[in-house]
Amino acid sequence: MKVIDTHCDALLKLQLAQQGSPYDIEPLSFYDAKEIETSVTRLQKGHVMAQFFAIFIYPDVPSDLKWQYALEQVDLFYTEILAKNPQMKHITKWEDFDDLKDGEIGAVLTLEGADAFGNDLMKLRQLYRLGVLSIGMTWNNANLCADGAGEPRGGGLTLLGKEVVQLNNEHKVLTDVAHSTEQGFWDILEYADYPIASHSNARALCDHVRNLNDEQAKAMFDKDGLIHVVYNPPFINENSNEATIADLIKHIDHLCSLGGVNHIGFGSDFDGISTYVKDLEDASKQQNLINELLKHYSEDEVKGFAYQNFLNHRPK
Ligand SMILES: [Zn+2]
Repeated sequence: MKVIDTHCDALLKLQLAQQGSPYDIEPLSFYDAKEIETSVTRLQKGHVMAQFFAIFIYPDVPSDLKWQYALEQVDLFYTEILAKNPQMKHITKWEDFDDLKDGEIGAVLTLEGADAFGNDLMKLRQLYRLGVLSIGMTWNNANLCADGAGEPRGGGLTLLGKEVVQLNNEHKVLTDVAHSTEQGFWDILEYADYPIASHSNARALCDHVRNLNDEQAKAMFDKDGLIHVVYNPPFINENSNEATIADLIKHIDHLCSLGGVNHIGFGSDFDGISTYVKDLEDASKQQNLINELLKHYSEDEVKGFAYQNFLNHRPK
């Protein structure tokens, strides 16, 4: 069964490898490097039809360098992922999903954290032109658009953040709440036409700031938004670095009990995590989750989780 995965950090991994390597060492191969959990060979083995790639910049990168770092990651997306791998097809608009042929894998560029463009909306417009189709206001830190999930202050959207959400709406770009504070979540839900939690789980089962409580999940489903479950054990089992596929499915069960059966998907966070769900350690293992889900849900429901819910709810 085909799979759409709405979050990974392969661009950061490619960038760190490049920055950390002496000039005479070849860059990591996105085709088959063992370090890359979403390499082409693994995406193929896992029957992934589309993989989202986040531009992500660590908070400690000086502000003056953040735009440079963001463009480096965009460049790696074009040079290492697209140019060297003809089976990878850049999804630049939502209809492109319908044109993917057998054997092709859609590649979607996203932004995790408005830090990259600061308060410069010219830079944001450039990101739209480069093909960014989903924008999360923050990672865990605060920026000029909003506070992130790790900020004790817990603030919501700033006026600039609200403007960015409205620009996302105009450009038919998703607004991602995965790293939002609770207040930021409610602000975004009020303004965003296309909200998604690209990699978050149910807080009722694992009380972590990166997860959504029942009220948030229900509001997301009411607004026709999407929650894509994340394969990171600390977001699955409280205070734990271990999890099984059965533990992850409990989050899907819970979100379904809140009315989410048509609004759930997958957002692995591969290449951005350092602990793994057993038997779901990289993109090649995606079918292990599918096979387990098929024991609990109808084929149509599992197809929904795997790709159809996303396709049904993508911006039109
Ligand atoms: Zn993240």
